[in-house]
Amino acid sequence: MDCLFCKIANGEIPSTKVYEDDLVYAFRDIEPQAPVHVLIIPKKHITSVNDINHENCSIVGHIFKVAAQIAKSEGIAEDGYRIVTNIGDLAGQTVKHLHYHMLGGRSLQWPPG
Ligand code: 5GP
Ligand code: ZN
Repeated sequence: MDCLFCKIANGEIPSTKVYEDDLVYAFRDIEPQAPVHVLIIPKKHITSVNDINHENCSIVGHIFKVAAQIAKSEGIAEDGYRIVTNIGDLAGQTVKHLHYHMLGGRSLQWPPG
């Protein structure tokens, strides 16, 4: 499958790794929108939240467990940070492989644009 984040997860395309295990890969966004901008993805291709189902939903809990660890190691856990996932075109999802943005290290506005 011609998917950018599948290629990043399997090492075909280089990235700056933050965390990796059998199920999850986390790396720095190429165009960071905050001092800390990490993308956390399942290694197995899932297109978006729309494709989370009974069979694959355990990955979501795992991703958030990993996110909590990354927030601590990035030094943003106490001050606060945001985790966001864009779904589909209106939300601005440009890469059609489920990914959670972790943004921190600055004050974040709400609501997002
Ligand atoms: P989306 O817009 O789909 O929610 O987020 C996609 C994110 O992937 C964007 O923040 C974009 O900067 C990032 N991105 C796109 N291509 C690459 C790449 O080749 N490497 C890395 N590290 N990030 C990428
Ligand atoms: Zn993929």
